[in-house]
Amino acid sequence: MTDSPRTPGDAGASETDRAPHMVGFQVTDVDFAKADGLVPGVVQHARTGQVLMVGFLDEEALRVTLDTGLATFHSRSRGALWTKGESSGNVLHVEAVELDCDRDTLLLHAIPSGPTCHTGERTCFDPGARPGSFVHELDEVVRGRQLELPEGSYTTTLFTGGVRRIAQKVGEEGVETALAAVAQDDEALLGESADLVYHLLVLLRSRDLGLADVERVLRRRHG
Ligand SMILES: [Zn+2]
Repeated sequence: MTDSPRTPGDAGASETDRAPHMVGFQVTDVDFAKADGLVPGVVQHARTGQVLMVGFLDEEALRVTLDTGLATFHSRSRGALWTKGESSGNVLHVEAVELDCDRDTLLLHAIPSGPTCHTGERTCFDPGARPGSFVHELDEVVRGRQLELPEGSYTTTLFTGGVRRIAQKVGEEGVETALAAVAQDDEALLGESADLVYHLLVLLRSRDLGLADVERVLRRRHG
């Protein structure tokens, strides 16, 4: 195995299960010596930015993570490698790995296939504590509904109704929001705004787009 930075499509892996490719450093760049062969690895949701968990990696764990695309750590209690989700199935698909400025901490951008915490929560940290993240979480929930189409879900009825129907709802909610702004109290305006944002997320998803794509446009305009 070489330590050269990876490029998309490395090792002939398919589009869906390829190893992480956005690795801008070499394994030998990592300062494992500083803390007895281990470096902390912070796992962040690749779409929402939510911090999911923290584990420790030795050089072998990092190589396995890069080779398999599944977050793999060194268990300090067992003194062995473990791939997150190897028993529960709730693995972390790593899309990119970053090395920090001191070369002694890794940031893993990953898509979880289930709850990350052993308690069944999505993250080992308090999901409610981070301000500004909820719309992204909602975007993820909407994405999940689109994939699973659970029965009895309003979001499912929107997706099965098709893009025209969803677009019509966004138009209606837009008008209602505008009317509330000029003729109703704050509570009504906020309620209509929430309806509008939710339906807009569903509309974007129906075109395989998400909040992150809108953010990219906004950043470009204001950057
Ligand atoms: Zn946990």
